[in-house]
Amino acid sequence: MKKDPRLEAVEKQMRPGEISSIGFLGNDERSLAEILLDDGHTVTSLYLDHQTIANRMQELTDKGREGFGNPVLVDDFLEVTVEDSRGTIACPFMHMGMYPKENVRVVNKKTGEEIRWTALNIHMIKEHGFYEGKGSPFRIEPLDLIRVLELT
Ligand SMILES: [Zn+2]
Repeated sequence: MKKDPRLEAVEKQMRPGEISSIGFLGNDERSLAEILLDDGHTVTSLYLDHQTIANRMQELTDKGREGFGNPVLVDDFLEVTVEDSRGTIACPFMHMGMYPKENVRVVNKKTGEEIRWTALNIHMIKEHGFYEGKGSPFRIEPLDLIRVLELT
């Protein structure tokens, strides 16, 4: 695959100690381009798109914020808790703008499974189709996300 210099510059921003002390790529050995392609394929193979997924995450986050740190039950089966951990983080794709570091935790009360994300995860999924590298603490497996939120 021909290397895109812009993606290479972004990949550099994602390494530990640049924007975030832990970085965004975990111990993933794939290039950023490969990570984006693989996760994009996973999502489109289920007839979904990043926009739809991110919009639902945002909607759940907004409803969860109404609990001010306490769990909020959404659609009778998703328990959403938004914890403000203070501080902001920049997008590694070199966008202007800062994203709050709040932690969102969603439990599917039917299955007991849970998934977590931050405001930056939502932005990166929506705008860049990026779910982070495998082994990154904020990596979101698209299949887990789709299953726990019961997206169709
Ligand atoms: Zn961005």
